[in-house]
Amino acid sequence: MKIAIAGSGALGCGFGYHLQKSGEDVTLLDNWEQHIEKISNDGLNITVNGVEDNLKMKMCRPNELNEEMDAIFVFTKSMGLKSMMESIDHIIGPDTKVICLLNGLGHLKTLENYVDKKNIIMGTTVWTAGIDAPGITHFNGQGPVELQNSDPNEKEGALLIVDMLHKSGLNGVYSDNVNYTTWRKACVNGTMNALCALLDSTIEEVFSTSTIDSMLSGIVTEFATVARLQDDIELDIEETITYLKNLAEKVGAHYPSMHQDLANNRPTEIDFLNGAVAEASKRFGIEAPYCQSVTDLIHAKEDIMGIH
Ligand code: NAD
Repeated sequence: MKIAIAGSGALGCGFGYHLQKSGEDVTLLDNWEQHIEKISNDGLNITVNGVEDNLKMKMCRPNELNEEMDAIFVFTKSMGLKSMMESIDHIIGPDTKVICLLNGLGHLKTLENYVDKKNIIMGTTVWTAGIDAPGITHFNGQGPVELQNSDPNEKEGALLIVDMLHKSGLNGVYSDNVNYTTWRKACVNGTMNALCALLDSTIEEVFSTSTIDSMLSGIVTEFATVARLQDDIELDIEETITYLKNLAEKVGAHYPSMHQDLANNRPTEIDFLNGAVAEASKRFGIEAPYCQSVTDLIHAKEDIMGIH
């Protein structure tokens, strides 16, 4: 398959690497000049679960690729999705599948402005990745990548992508309810990520505070309310909190990605997590004081740090 990775940061490079290794024709797309130059000249340096490799890969800016793709994986940050979709319009054909694994809420609506719903595949991934320097990345975990077609009649197309991911070692899995998984993942990011970023602490430190129970209960209840009203998704609040606490025990020493974004002077995805829940709550005429305050505080922190 001819595949473009639209947004070749940490996760995009990891996916592009695995897909090319398994024989797909991959082009990495990005706008970060130093990263493009380094990978085009020296290949992608990637360490997968501790094993370092270097792979020659095609990489360019979106406007420099001039053919329609069979599949496009979008891997921008949430706030970069709209401008990326505008810049790749010319490589989306009538049958191009567009796969979105971003964290956060509301991406299907954005994609529908640029891609026929029959070609949109939504999903989540639990692979983790980071960039150590331009052209040098790491990629960890075992997956899975859960995917589902947005149009109920298009399951066959999603299964083809699942199969391709499976063959490439990315552990693709078909999901019958990816919307639920997306909300559940948003709860992880809207609690662990946001609180660790605000409190400048590891997950373990945040989860051992005396106020963790009321913070988790407040945030998860607001997410669950909007999931039900907006998407007809039933999140079990108690079960979700237990899941978060169990997860915190496993990954306690870690600083989540939103903390790392601030540490690297980069804007966070808060408007697509707690911010999206606070905005949706307003539309439904209800209050979401936890999500609104967390969003305001993260933006205040970005302002103080001069991050735009
Ligand atoms: P990323 O920040 O590594 O890359 C996103 C974009 O930012 C890319 O275009 C990249 O080139 C650019 N970028 C990164 N560092 C830059 C720098 N220093 N200067 C200029 N441009 C830079 O994002 P990611 O971690 O790959 O995440 C993509 C999406 O996947 C997000 O929605 C994220 O929440 C989600 N996600 C990430 C992980 C993870 O472990 N990284 C795991 C699951 C989901």
